[in-house]
Amino acid sequence: MKSSNSGYILSFDQGTTSSRAILFNHDGAIVAMAQRPLRQYYPEPGWVEQDANEILESQLAVAREAIAKAGIGPEEIASIGITNQRETVVMWDKDSGRPVYRAIVWQCRRSTAICEELVSSGLEDEFRARTGLRLDPYFSGTKLCWLFREIPGLKALAENGEILFGTVDSWLLWNLTGRHETDITNASRTLLFNINDGTWDPMLLSVLGIPPQVLPKIQSSADDFGVTKPEIFGVSIPISGVVGDQQAALFGHACFSPGMAKNTYGTGCFSLLNTGNKPVWSKNNLLTTVAWRIGGKTTYALEGSVFIAGAVIQWLRDEMRFIETAEETEGISRSIPDTNGVYFVPAFVGLGAPYWDPDARGTIVGITRGVTSAHLVRAALESIAYQSEDLIAAMGSDFGKPVESIKADGGATANSFLMQFQADISGRPVLLPEIAESTALGAAYMAGISCGYWDGVAEIENNWRLKRRFEPDMNEKDRLKRLALWHKAVQAAREYKK
Ligand code: ADP
Repeated sequence: MKSSNSGYILSFDQGTTSSRAILFNHDGAIVAMAQRPLRQYYPEPGWVEQDANEILESQLAVAREAIAKAGIGPEEIASIGITNQRETVVMWDKDSGRPVYRAIVWQCRRSTAICEELVSSGLEDEFRARTGLRLDPYFSGTKLCWLFREIPGLKALAENGEILFGTVDSWLLWNLTGRHETDITNASRTLLFNINDGTWDPMLLSVLGIPPQVLPKIQSSADDFGVTKPEIFGVSIPISGVVGDQQAALFGHACFSPGMAKNTYGTGCFSLLNTGNKPVWSKNNLLTTVAWRIGGKTTYALEGSVFIAGAVIQWLRDEMRFIETAEETEGISRSIPDTNGVYFVPAFVGLGAPYWDPDARGTIVGITRGVTSAHLVRAALESIAYQSEDLIAAMGSDFGKPVESIKADGGATANSFLMQFQADISGRPVLLPEIAESTALGAAYMAGISCGYWDGVAEIENNWRLKRRFEPDMNEKDRLKRLALWHKAVQAAREYKK
């Protein structure tokens, strides 16, 4: 593999709603970027699908666009790093390369009944101990099981070695290089991977009825994933980094030491805490997952998510019509001293960690005669920070050491009121990096370390630049009082059952 620090690193960021390509230079700065939206299919309530060929075509198109925008030649790209929406399942015919079904997206709930079956067979603890995950349709394994149960003849073909399975990274890699591989972070989200010994787990495969022949080879996150077929970009470009999107963001934030955490503020929030070289099992419903593997060394993480974060702002805009744009929420919140005693728990689809309560429902408490739409807007914004704080506190408690600071990225970090409130209610600083594209940057760094473009994590730490730091500025008594009231509101959201 080419070992040079000249040229650029091209990051493929294949997300749920769009495919993006970003070209980075040696300082970790963005040189060019291109993006295309991805069509979503909802064939039945709760089902979410995408066209696997569109995923591939859009990703290749944005890659070519980014190269053209930068005005460089493809031979100037030292390496490609891939990061992707995780848990989404693609199965394809080994000979023709044709997908046998649409890609089943991580959000898809079609395998709920399979999960319930497994839980009632008493297998939940077994799955948790082996994978670090929950028996939830979110993860790939039960989606695969669904395909084998529903598509006639598929299992026999798979046992014959004619069918391949991959998460999105693997699907892209196979088309780019002809190799059937995945990285350990993506494998760790499938419900088929044993995080204790780092291999596909024969017992879980057998319980889910998945022929092992379909599985890709598991590689490190920084590894040799081959080179792109020459006809794709005109030259062969090495691929040397692959990492799931949330883990990529953790890496892009340079959270290299145990105890460092990031929170991504998008439609939902995703928090990850680096727990070092051993998996930590959660007492607070967090997931245990692989952060990355570099040079044979595996780093683990605790992960939790808030289902409705920025989405509550969309709801205020589109359904309540209290606002016209998400940006307005900042000025509105600053125009009043507080929420006038209102707490808003946006449990529209239940609550994630640390509660894991699918039956909780959205609840607003503390309404009095003087409450205005502005107070509700502020309470909605504050709910993003309260929910995130519940996750970060749970992580610290599982890890045995409080999290010191939160590195933040995602669309809602544009809201400085929210970032300040997060620091206030958490009692810890919130750090915004200069390069907001932490996910794409993480994949670029992974590839760049692997091929020698960057010397190692020390060089990346040097590249990391702070854009803004929000210091906590709320007295402790006030903070604890508000948290206690928030938890009462959460309790109300959980007690209300249809
Ligand atoms: P995703 O990657 O999940 O699609 P993004 O990182 O693009 O999300 O962030 C978009 C989300 O952030 C939306 O839900 C939007 O409501 C919210 N958002 C964007 N800007 C602001 C803002 N200034 N204040 C509050 N929320 C915002």
